Amino acid sequence: MGDPRGDRNMDLSLREADPEVAAAIAREAVRQRDHIELIASENYAFAAVREAQGSILTNKYAEGYPGKRYYAGCEFVDVVEDLARSRALQLFGGSEHVNVQPHSGASANIAVFSAAMEPGDSFVAMSLSQGGHLSHGAPVNLSGRWFAPTFYGVRPDDGLIDWEGVERAVATAKPKILIAGASAYPRTLDFARFAAIAHDAGAKLLVDMAHISGIVAAGLHPSPFPHADYVTSTTHKTLRGPRSGIAFARADLGAALDKSVFPGMQGGPLMHVIAAKAVAFGLALDPSFRTYMERTLANAKSLAAALAAHGFGVVTGGTDTHLILCDVTPLGVTGKEATLALEAVGVTINKNSIPGETRSPMVTSGVRYGTPAATTRGMGEAEMVQIAAWSAEAIARRDDPAALRRIAAEVSALARTFPVPGRDATSLAEHGA
Ligand SMILES: *Cc1c(COP(=O)(O)O)cnc(C)c1O
Repeated sequence: MGDPRGDRNMDLSLREADPEVAAAIAREAVRQRDHIELIASENYAFAAVREAQGSILTNKYAEGYPGKRYYAGCEFVDVVEDLARSRALQLFGGSEHVNVQPHSGASANIAVFSAAMEPGDSFVAMSLSQGGHLSHGAPVNLSGRWFAPTFYGVRPDDGLIDWEGVERAVATAKPKILIAGASAYPRTLDFARFAAIAHDAGAKLLVDMAHISGIVAAGLHPSPFPHADYVTSTTHKTLRGPRSGIAFARADLGAALDKSVFPGMQGGPLMHVIAAKAVAFGLALDPSFRTYMERTLANAKSLAAALAAHGFGVVTGGTDTHLILCDVTPLGVTGKEATLALEAVGVTINKNSIPGETRSPMVTSGVRYGTPAATTRGMGEAEMVQIAAWSAEAIARRDDPAALRRIAAEVSALARTFPVPGRDATSLAEHGA
């Protein structure tokens, strides 16, 4: 009997349908298994998160919100979005309203901007070069082109938030929004102090907790929710969910936020990704997630101390979070050179500007390390000490190909003893090798 669809391609596996894409994914699986991932914003998602994200929910249009959709047949995706919303509110106790539809962290920020500002309005944020984010007013980003940002930064001497700078920026700009939150700040953020400055000036406080949301969820970083009017986050960094975003608002600002996301800036929500967010929030509510975050923070402290012992200039002298910012000038290299040396041995980090930076963003004087991904694989203090030693050695012997090859072999031998999450990922790497 023939196939009534007349299209046998519809049932092909990825490997059958597209060997080129399949091969690239398999090679990436090998890379993810054999390298040590220390980019602070990266992690390995829960296997169940990836399963939901790859599910048949991608087939469904569901413009609108649960119970108020523009399409028929939404009864099951409504269950999924309601689960995502209620779990997000439970995970971040104290939050009042949540929208789980933003496609990414940057989209969540734009949704808040368009809910709270008109084009040309001013806001205040940490500058990109001092640890802020592209979507907080960088001139090349929509946030900087359509709105009028004024920036604060960190003090060049100790790398901590320049509170006088925050107060000055708010006093002169009279902003609609003050943003607290960063991509490269290793210390606890004082949300009460940010809120006092914002609210005294009649501005709203947006906390972008993209990097630290897992730490907040675990109760190991003070919560922004008692203080902020809006909170945004990614869901794929410390939270270990799918690559996506989420936005929260005070109850009275919730309806405007929802309108801003849909129909303001997005069409159909990605229901498969929202399902994956529901799964991630559910798993983050399990007590094991707090243990994971505790180990992530302990590893960051160990790694910071070990790097300092090898001569790295650890900015602020340490870390309260999952990330470490280092000045590599004392080692005689730029951030770019250090990153390339570590890449050659399979230790993945990124170059980063440091307080008082004198080099361009493409070169930099610093590097950023983060422990969420390595901790997900089960690495602990002994591995952190080893990673710091390899880092120093790879930088010192960056012009010695034989030494780099030997270190790379040691790195991948160690990495392979720590499993990547998901039996599918393990077998993909085994077949891709
Ligand atoms: C990572 C990050 C984002 C952006 O997230 P995307 O999902 O990549 O758009 C936004 N804000 C901060 C502070 C971040 O660190």
